[in-house]
Amino acid sequence: MARERQLPPLPRLSRRSLIGGAAAAAGAVTLTGTAAPAAFAATRDVDVAIVGGGLAGLTAARDLVAGGKTVAVLEARDRVGGRVLNLPLAGGGVTEGGGEFIGPTQDRIKALADSLGVDTFATYNTGKNLLYKDGKKTAYATDGILGSVPPIDAAGLANAAIVQASLDDMAKTIPLDAPWTAPKAEEWDRQTFETWLRANAVIPSAKFLLDVACTSIFSAEPRELSLLFVLFYIAAAGNESTPGTLERLTETAGGAQELRFVGGSQLVPIKLAATLGDRVVLNAPVRTIARSGAKYVVTADGVTVTAKRVVVAVPPPLAARITYDPLLPAARDQLTQRLPMASVGKAIAIYDTPFWRADGLNGQVVSDTGVISSTFDNSPPDASYGALMGFIEADEARKFDAASEAEVKAAVLKDYVTYFGSKAASPTSFVLQRWNNEAYTRGGPVSIGGPGVLTQYGPALRAPVGGIHWAGTETSIHWNGFMDGAVRSGERVAKEVLAVL
Ligand SMILES: Cc1cc2nc3c(=O)[nH]c(=O)nc-3n(C[C@H](O)[C@H](O)[C@H](O)COP(=O)(O)OP(=O)(O)OC[C@H]3O[C@@H](n4cnc5c(N)ncnc54)[C@H](O)[C@@H]3O)c2cc1C
Repeated sequence: MARERQLPPLPRLSRRSLIGGAAAAAGAVTLTGTAAPAAFAATRDVDVAIVGGGLAGLTAARDLVAGGKTVAVLEARDRVGGRVLNLPLAGGGVTEGGGEFIGPTQDRIKALADSLGVDTFATYNTGKNLLYKDGKKTAYATDGILGSVPPIDAAGLANAAIVQASLDDMAKTIPLDAPWTAPKAEEWDRQTFETWLRANAVIPSAKFLLDVACTSIFSAEPRELSLLFVLFYIAAAGNESTPGTLERLTETAGGAQELRFVGGSQLVPIKLAATLGDRVVLNAPVRTIARSGAKYVVTADGVTVTAKRVVVAVPPPLAARITYDPLLPAARDQLTQRLPMASVGKAIAIYDTPFWRADGLNGQVVSDTGVISSTFDNSPPDASYGALMGFIEADEARKFDAASEAEVKAAVLKDYVTYFGSKAASPTSFVLQRWNNEAYTRGGPVSIGGPGVLTQYGPALRAPVGGIHWAGTETSIHWNGFMDGAVRSGERVAKEVLAVL
């Protein structure tokens, strides 16, 4: 810290909210961020330069500072949080455009939120789910003998149950820190999830359920994923003492969608960044990371940081857009060429009331058609207004990437009317967040692995390259792809750096 103060200060052109003016107006916490306008070149010398002000980068910064190190977090956007984003609503309040839910065994994001005073509340889950299939709508209870499994035909249910048990059993054989060493890694990594499903989910209704589960979890089609990658992801959906299961990924009660954050999930990174103060530099997309003697020179727009170590806490395809000097080892670079972001958007329609609740519905839909095939009740805890959130996933997301917002809105509301009736046609406002079109994310919710990636390139995922260390949810062995995985990766990378610095 003393060392940081001796250095020339960065130009302070603006005092701004880390989440932007609109969200600040919605009542979010504000703090002084340091803008790094391109017209000024500023320099800092720190122990560790951190690329990315998402949950991973900010958590790493917290732990490194606690370990007595000086840090600079360089964040490309004008806000922190990355894939966690509060969107302000016209009538007041916020809704979430990115990561939103947490659940059992996601201990590290929960501990972080608790430490920052961000409370949770239960995702609305009272009433019946809706299945929309073959043009027919069926409401079904989620607390019956089948849990929340949609009421498909008996043969399909039996088939789906066997498939689910098989996936869980296979996932149990995956070593989380090295899935490429699983006994059947080669066999599972040379086929897509689609190939395996076609051979195993042989009843069409069972295949439908597994397809919906796949697009809901990954926002990717089964043909895009290696079976080994899917099994690793299932295995990672737990903590050190509780193995992951497919059910924990898909469920609301008892699963990854169980809880939400009061005030919106972005409060967590916003409050975390507030504890770091001017160590977080906004509007600073990192362009190059170059070795210079025993140090690294990290060049971002408007600011250059010299550091003994660098933590890159951005998704792999974004890490690949940075220029490294000297070149990264081929295995690391080729890995990042092969972990694309999946395709996702969220569409949230706001109503005066959550009217579907009066019809005995919990707002959750599983559908075989439409731009939206999965929805949640995103209303605030006091239900002062109603919010229907729908995921736009995989092929459907790509179909609408170039469409106007009005076109997407029309398609989404058509689906909401199909599911919830004519009242859904007239929201008081409508919010759309399309991650594929975001410069510093390029899709979501997570990078995905196709056939051959984990077995050929997996070992390069976390291995430091000289003084460059890798973080981000994609590097986590628990809850990979989730906010919890991001926090865990920040904690892991900080330990890694503190052990050598
Ligand atoms: C639509 C959607 C829904 C989701 N739902 C959930 C959910 O319900 N529950 C859950 O747990 N998770 C969910 N996730 C996933 C979760 O949001 C992420 O796993 C998590 O936020 C990732 O954090 P991170 O810090 O690893 O990466 P990011 O949040 O991507 O942070 C990386 C940061 O680096 C910045 N950056 C990129 N390139 C550069 C550069 N060159 N220089 C400087 N900065 C750069 C970015 O702007 C970003 O702020 C969802 C994600 C999406 C998109």
